[in-house]
Amino acid sequence: MDPLLHRNETASVVAVGAVRFGDGSYPVIAGPCSIESESQLAAAATIVAGAGASMLRGGAYKPRTSPYSFQGLGREGLRLLHAAGRATGLPTVAEVMEPREVEIAAAHLDMLQVGSRNMQNVALLRALGETGKPVLLKRGFAATIEEWLLAAEYILDAGNSQVVLCERGIRTFETQTRNTLDISAVPVAKALGSLPVIVDPSHAAGRRDLITPLALAGRAVGADGMMVEVHPNPESALSDGPQQLDGRQFASLMDILDIHSRREEIDRIDHRIVHLLARRLEMSIKIGRAKTARGLPLRSPAREEMILDAIEDEAARAGLDPRVVRDMYESILTESRRAQHRSTLTAVQGGIGG
Ligand code: PEP
Ligand code: MN
Repeated sequence: MDPLLHRNETASVVAVGAVRFGDGSYPVIAGPCSIESESQLAAAATIVAGAGASMLRGGAYKPRTSPYSFQGLGREGLRLLHAAGRATGLPTVAEVMEPREVEIAAAHLDMLQVGSRNMQNVALLRALGETGKPVLLKRGFAATIEEWLLAAEYILDAGNSQVVLCERGIRTFETQTRNTLDISAVPVAKALGSLPVIVDPSHAAGRRDLITPLALAGRAVGADGMMVEVHPNPESALSDGPQQLDGRQFASLMDILDIHSRREEIDRIDHRIVHLLARRLEMSIKIGRAKTARGLPLRSPAREEMILDAIEDEAARAGLDPRVVRDMYESILTESRRAQHRSTLTAVQGGIGG
């Protein structure tokens, strides 16, 4: 039996307020590792909203490796995150660690996060399945992709289809980075599970200098968004200081991601333009053949002039320089005439030879 009973035929899209995971957009969830105080969170929220983040994150319950490290502000943290989300208009996400905290967290947040250390906390997964709130399920740092997808099944099977997966790095023998971002897990988990998958380069790398290259790597392998830690003053952070970006660094990351998405869009447009040109040429060739068959002249200057006039008008309406577009079209028409000649010539030669 297929253990992934809740796999969809089509990839799912998860909505968190106006944000969409899995629809081809690339939402960026940003905010501090821990919510430390009202002023720290407000400053972080202003930074991330100003630089174009889609969602605000912040840890209220911190699953620290040591019980003596800062454990988070708990419910007070949830309250602060809710207020900061309202103030900036950004949907919020924070980790919840225990089933008994799910209800209160769901009342304060737009999305609930399962941390790496809790990926197989079955009671928590079931409780999250019952809320109906979107869930961000982080991959356990020692979990296989299959175990991760099966953890998601607990939530889906309890009736909640709003699950986003987050690859946050796994433990390997490498010590230069905190974890190893498993880039191949993104397309593999997407293909196997049909759920959106985002990347968290912050917890993967543990070092801020690697955030941008890993964020770009995530984009390149088809991630549906990313999570990144941002602190107004990382040097004073109560947790994960070395991996958090400050405001300037986050803004520059967002600029780089923006340039990449625009380039991708340009590549898609160019691809379409080339294919449309090929179709246009195909039509001209067919017309050329029909004219030759009827003994009509190939060239009709009146028709060409009409096309160029119409194109100039259309270009002006679209906000383009009509002269420039006309020049481009003259090249297109020249190539059409050449292709018509070539094609009728080969047809005639074919006829003579045959
Ligand atoms: C976090 O995102 O706050 C966090 C603790 O991450 P992870 O569970 O991936 O370690
Ligand atoms: Mn952290």
